Amino acid sequence: MVLPHEPEFQQAYDELVSAIQDSTLFEEQPKYKKVIPVVSVPERIIQFRVVWENDKGEAQVNNGYRVQFNSALGPYKGGLRFHPSVNLSILKFLGFEQIFKNALTGLSMGGGKGGSDFNPKDKSDAEIRRFCVSFMRALARYIGQDTDVPAGDIGVGGREVGYLFGAYKQMQNNWSGVLTGKGINWGGSLIRPEATGYGTVYYVEKMIEKATKGKETFKGKKVTISGSGNVAQYAALKVNELGGIVVSLSDSKGSIISKKGITNEQVEAIAKAKLQFKSLEQIIKDEARIFDDSIEYIAGVRPWTKVGQVDVALPCATQNEVSGEEAKALVDAGCKFIAEGSNMGSTKEAIEVFESNRSNDVWYAPGKAANCGGVAVSGLEMAQNSQRVTWSNEEVDSKLKDIMYTCFENCYDTAVKYSTDKNSQGLPSLLKGANIAGFIKVADAMFDQGEVF
Ligand code: GLU
Repeated sequence: MVLPHEPEFQQAYDELVSAIQDSTLFEEQPKYKKVIPVVSVPERIIQFRVVWENDKGEAQVNNGYRVQFNSALGPYKGGLRFHPSVNLSILKFLGFEQIFKNALTGLSMGGGKGGSDFNPKDKSDAEIRRFCVSFMRALARYIGQDTDVPAGDIGVGGREVGYLFGAYKQMQNNWSGVLTGKGINWGGSLIRPEATGYGTVYYVEKMIEKATKGKETFKGKKVTISGSGNVAQYAALKVNELGGIVVSLSDSKGSIISKKGITNEQVEAIAKAKLQFKSLEQIIKDEARIFDDSIEYIAGVRPWTKVGQVDVALPCATQNEVSGEEAKALVDAGCKFIAEGSNMGSTKEAIEVFESNRSNDVWYAPGKAANCGGVAVSGLEMAQNSQRVTWSNEEVDSKLKDIMYTCFENCYDTAVKYSTDKNSQGLPSLLKGANIAGFIKVADAMFDQGEVF
């Protein structure tokens, strides 16, 4: 398949297909070949116009989308992204990833993704609210708790989910778990905001444990993190809790580097200011009391080549945020564990660098495995909504941990089972394990349901 007009989707498709082709799966069970052309076409794509009123009373127009990619395992499930870069290639790549990611959680969720090219960054709260209402006016008829359950992604957090939910409820005269990431006092799940970042760190805990045969943990490890949104914030807090040292965070304008380690107080200050879309550069200036001289700001770069020696890298910003060169710099700086909190955080070239260094004990986990904790707790939110119950922090956190640990074991065992290099000394490929394990689960359901035969 060649889709020059959809480069991001092509990249996600190529990653999955080449991971599978470079294993023994098709050789052992050729029937799975038939699934590829079917699973790579979305079941349905909805595209709509969103007209909304700005603060001057003028009409503004944006494109809205929902890609309902695959419903073999459950209702379509996946976030909404509001960002000027949003187009069908981006949403198809995200929806495609989501299918296999959701399968890896072990819960009953299909895959979907949606969003708009609306840029919330320079908008007032009232404009964001009016946009969300207009967006939901077009989307409401296509979603539902048993059909399609959106959530947040880049540019869509608790505030936006609240406005979207309020609009849905009013339009459909129906209070149901149609969105996840809701407020905890009105149907949301505890630990949902923390889930993606925490889950990524739980996954890496297992990588470290397995690779070092239980000898090492996060304690004392230097961890470079990119991004400063929800995923990066909670990943940083969990790393700190486990005794690691967070040496960086970043945003679209630049990076902050701290050799001493970014503190919880600093992460919390960033979290607060990011709600108002302030840049990191601005935040460290405004909060000089909290951000002392130990913090260095470097404009216009991602952290990877600037952090010096590190043990762990967690890309938690957006797609293609690690280039081949940057991957090489990380490996040269001693980085052994790379796990994506972002979706498709690494370029194809970066993945090649990480994968070819497995024999040097470098271990890479793709986003569809390492960041499945977010959507997993969305699945737990759906379960609580259906039962009209609320689980405690401890209960949700222990379920999340269990899902991430099981996901890791599943990726590991699948990689070993279908490996073409069974006698090599290197670590098994979690890239292959994740793609093959997710794919088999979805493919089997598609056979059973007569979607492929
Ligand atoms: N946007 C998140 C993801 O990429 C969460 C999706 C959800 O909770 O439905 O997995």
